[in-house]
Amino acid sequence: MKAAAIDGRSVAARVRERVRAAVAERVRAGLPRPGLATVLVGDDPASAIYVRRKQEACAEVGIAAFDHRLPADAGEERVAATLDALNADARVHGVLLQLPLPDGLDAAALIDRIDPAKDVDGLTTVSQGRLVTGRPGLRPCTPRGVIELLDAYGVDLTGAEAVVVGRSELVGRPLAQLLLERNATVTVCHSRTRELARVTARADVLCVAAGVPRLIGADYVKPGAVVIDVGIHRLPEGLVGDVDFDAVAARARLVTPVPGGVGPMTVAMLLDNTLRAAEAATAKAAP
Ligand code: NAD
Repeated sequence: MKAAAIDGRSVAARVRERVRAAVAERVRAGLPRPGLATVLVGDDPASAIYVRRKQEACAEVGIAAFDHRLPADAGEERVAATLDALNADARVHGVLLQLPLPDGLDAAALIDRIDPAKDVDGLTTVSQGRLVTGRPGLRPCTPRGVIELLDAYGVDLTGAEAVVVGRSELVGRPLAQLLLERNATVTVCHSRTRELARVTARADVLCVAAGVPRLIGADYVKPGAVVIDVGIHRLPEGLVGDVDFDAVAARARLVTPVPGGVGPMTVAMLLDNTLRAAEAATAKAAP
């Protein structure tokens, strides 16, 4: 069997188009244009590129972008004051604190400073609690992107054996929750899991967010499985994921390539979360 590659670029383009149309419709109806504020602390070049891409993506779909930059030595109080001001600004529906933060800043405390109604990264304690308890709220972008890809390819999650490799707050844990919400039978693996290949080979849907280049080879995959690779690594030979694409493609039914799989979904879901936050603000409901 030769797996089909999941085309994340085209699914992401459809999400962005859906958001663009909904934003245009809101504005036509006289409702406030959705707004996203990014907060970048310090001068990490990779973070600056990510922020610029998010700003450009907003512009393409008609979301107003507010760009806030602070020096690496700004100090916790100044960052907190910036977040407080954005929480209070009615033009801003989403507040994104770009991570990682420079040393010396308490990331967890600053993330929790963000109003959960504007928490478009879904990382505040309140948003995570809402996810775990199944209450409405903003969900983290990359895990939402994975679910969107599975839906776009008609993968039935109800009752499916889903295995998630990785338990980070950003990806693995929230993804496991979203799969559970969709009635999959979910197993979460991590660095202390014994006989990883034996566990992953059970999966109908295998999602990998371990941060280890080409960790998952053919032996880890059940024939006919759907494999989602969240990992991204810049190696001398180019970008690779946590999955050995060629080996796994010979066994799986569907597999995401790197690049062009999960990657494009993250920013698309950020735009969608910003739209949701704006819609919830209009309806005065939880996002
Ligand atoms: P992380 O380092 O915070 O977490 C990695 C997790 O994998 C941990 O829970 C760890 O226990 C587990 N793990 C590590 N080695 C393992 C092994 N050998 N076997 C089993 N489990 C193992 O990483 P993260 O933030 O979750 O990111 C994971 C990967 O996804 C990274 O490559 C990152 O660059 C990528 N990423 C991509 C996107 C995107 O938009 N595509 C977004 C976020 C992260």
